Amino acid sequence: MAEFIPQPSCADTQEDNNLSVSEATLRISRLISPVTAWEKLALRDALGRVLHQDIISPINVPPHHNSAMDGYAIHSSDINGKSFTLKQVGTAFAGQPFAGVINAGECIRIMTGAMMPSDCDTVVMQEHVETDNNTIIVHGIHEAGQHVRLAGEDLKIADAVLAEGHKISAADLGLIASLGIGEVTVKRKLRVAFFSTGDELRSIGETLEAGQIFDSNRYTLYGMLKRLDVDILDMGVIPDQKQALRDAFQLAAEQADVVITSGGVSVGDADYVKDILAELGQVDFWKIAMKPGRPLAFGIVNNTLFFGLPGNPVSVMVTFYQFARPALQQLAGETDQIRQLMQVPCISNIRKRPGRFEFQRGILFENEQGQLQVKTTGEQGSGILRSMSIANCFILLNEACDGIAPGNTVTVQPFSGII
Ligand code: AMP
Ligand code: MG
Repeated sequence: MAEFIPQPSCADTQEDNNLSVSEATLRISRLISPVTAWEKLALRDALGRVLHQDIISPINVPPHHNSAMDGYAIHSSDINGKSFTLKQVGTAFAGQPFAGVINAGECIRIMTGAMMPSDCDTVVMQEHVETDNNTIIVHGIHEAGQHVRLAGEDLKIADAVLAEGHKISAADLGLIASLGIGEVTVKRKLRVAFFSTGDELRSIGETLEAGQIFDSNRYTLYGMLKRLDVDILDMGVIPDQKQALRDAFQLAAEQADVVITSGGVSVGDADYVKDILAELGQVDFWKIAMKPGRPLAFGIVNNTLFFGLPGNPVSVMVTFYQFARPALQQLAGETDQIRQLMQVPCISNIRKRPGRFEFQRGILFENEQGQLQVKTTGEQGSGILRSMSIANCFILLNEACDGIAPGNTVTVQPFSGII
């Protein structure tokens, strides 16, 4: 409730010393060196992986001039007024070129994708043609060169097609295949270990005693990591005990490029993650001027990147999305990732005071006029995981924002493909 007190409080002064979201992002990014190891894969297996090589076209695509239509290949010099007659001397199919000579006044029947005969430079669509045995009568207005796809129109020999650092999409698989390239080198996969911390946590299948809850963070983390195509090492639930945490961190750091944990980074009496990490490596503990997800630990333990996310289920998702995900992409060598943001009118009244960056859960929808709008999911408590489940975007309210009135435009970050 304190969130909505309009007057500045001492908490505000404290918040001035917190790290901003953008400063935290920058500090994380400065510490990351992308992986250098790579492997060669059959093209299909490279889907979702990051290119280690530039893809340079070894051929022209298409390799030859070809017809863009089913129709007739003609000499443009034969185009004559609104209708003219030509003699058909053969046919070209896709994959079966016409080998003969086509003189002035002659044409061939040609199918879409068939190689253009070198004698002809123009295609007329069959819809504009009347046929009479071996002669055709062409009607309508035609231009020299029409309906011909030129060799190299898509890609020319030696064109740079895709750059190192690009993540391979379904379209890219087709593009690379169109060049006749069957194997590509990609950066090695990242290995990410994660575990939940907390004495109160039980795994599915166990019985809940008084004060206990089911561990949900490992499931959301699993889901979000799966989306990133990394190798996953799920280390389960670790109790709030120093030795157990120490062992878990050491084991995780030995085996993974990145260790992600949830819980125990706050200021509670059982928040030992801090002490253990201070012992094991260079880790910073930040209070970030954001909501939800204020405490965040980040650093390096034996060459392994470490993210200590807060325990609250929504905070885990927000901090993973905002900090861990871009860091993993950077570490994986992905250079062309962009934050997809949209400006959309908001129909909700959102109360906020300046100071922290808020990531409210929102629902993007189309109104009756087909216009895209956003509303909040309502209650925004950081323990309410349902708000993430029914949301399809974050509504980003920056530090300076002092509330949103219905109709105001807000910045929205859609979840699609990410959460
Ligand atoms: P902590 O950051 O450890 O103080 O935890 C903050 C809140 O998140 C507490 O209410 C915890 O019970 C809850 N929490 C921590 N870890 C998990 C988890 N893995 N699954 C669900 N809730 C959790
Ligand atoms: Mg805890």
